[in-house]
Amino acid sequence: MGQITLQGVAKRFGEVEVIPPLDLTIDDGEFVVFVGPSGCGKSTLLRLIAGLEDVSDGRILIDGADATEASPAKRGLAMVFQSYALYPHMSVRKNIAFPMKMAGVPKAEQDRRIEAAAKALNLTNYLDRRPGQLSGGQRQRVAIGRAIVREPAAFLFDEPLSNLDAALRVGMRLEISELHNRLKTTMIYVTHDQVEAMTMADKIVVLQAGRIEQVGSPLDLYHSPRNVFVAGFIGSPR
Ligand code: ADP
Ligand code: MG
Repeated sequence: MGQITLQGVAKRFGEVEVIPPLDLTIDDGEFVVFVGPSGCGKSTLLRLIAGLEDVSDGRILIDGADATEASPAKRGLAMVFQSYALYPHMSVRKNIAFPMKMAGVPKAEQDRRIEAAAKALNLTNYLDRRPGQLSGGQRQRVAIGRAIVREPAAFLFDEPLSNLDAALRVGMRLEISELHNRLKTTMIYVTHDQVEAMTMADKIVVLQAGRIEQVGSPLDLYHSPRNVFVAGFIGSPR
């Protein structure tokens, strides 16, 4: 579960080709970071994988099955939005339960998953609060909890920490890495922050203008950047 393959995936908005055809395989359980400057197409690529945008060309396979035409719900992936995407009028418990309610998960099973997610994310004592009564980091954990309870084949994060201050960001980075170690579920994490990429990724995909400049481990990219763009972006000594 959790292998994602892109075959010749391309995206055009009108006349503008934002993503030229690209191939990429993400293996089950990998922590993959898409990194690149603002506007290079990271969010678009993630939204194509999530099914929130239609591809202009190519195919998307999830665990070997063609998911190109599948609705977002059918893909079994969970997108983690920034913490402000929580429902302010609902308790933490209800926020976390919401996607399960939509999916028709039985109540007892909902409660079991909420307890497990709350425990994993240190939210057990906050389930009856509303998002407005939580810190930024706690709100971000609720957003992650809402994804965990769907038991997705992969988690998709789009710059989830960009709202948080620098100190909190470091802590949340560690928490997400620990969560990955514990769940061992595929995670795709979008950021423009090289440090996040280098410290969190098993595999980094460096993007520029919708093209993949290089794919490799943090060490690969640091020691053997393929070109000046990758070297400059990653900060390696070449
Ligand atoms: P990133 O997440 O790396 O900052 P995006 O994927 O948001 O980049 O955007 C990539 C490019 O696609 C940008 O030039 C952006 O203006 C363009 N773009 C994104 N979404 C749309 C859209 N719905 N319509 C037209 N252009 C878009
Ligand atoms: Mg973006």
